[in-house]
This record gives sequence, structure tokens and C-alpha cells, in this order.
Amino acid sequence: MPCCAAQQFERHPDPHIADIGQGGGAEYTVGTCTNCGAHLIHCWVGGVAESIHVVSQQTIDAFIAAPPAQRKALLAGWFNSL
Ligand SMILES: [Zn+2]
Repeated sequence: MPCCAAQQFERHPDPHIADIGQGGGAEYTVGTCTNCGAHLIHCWVGGVAESIHVVSQQTIDAFIAAPPAQRKALLAGWFNSL
């Protein structure tokens, strides 16, 4: 089984962090991989699981620190750069 896939995705325990927001036409869920502990962002488009990406703690921290309007732009920029 591949690591860091949907089967190993565990939502962040804090819902304010787990449901980090939307931007760029997608919605994002923050969590970790139960297998290797990597920080993950799960991307959803139209309510359908689109992709899961390994990200750094710094990336998540930057999203959390940004005010809502700016967070949306940051998320969109990140998603478009994938
Ligand atoms: Zn993993």
C-alpha cells in the first residue's frame, strides 16, 4: 500500500486547523499520515477527493497565520503551483 494515501490520512484534531479553508477552486483538509507522520494536505474539488500532498510544518503554519482573505490567496497559490 502506498504511504501517505487516503487510507493513512488522519485529520488534524483541531477542526479550525483541519478545515483550513478553500481557494483556487478547491477545499483543503490538514492532517497527518498515520504511517510515517508526514504533514498532509488533502485537496477536495466539488466535494470529491482530488489529491493528497506532503507539506512542511512551515507551510501549514503560514496558512494558519494568514488572515482569512490572505489565507485563501495563499492556498490558491499553493494549489496552482502543484
Ligand atoms: Zn506516509
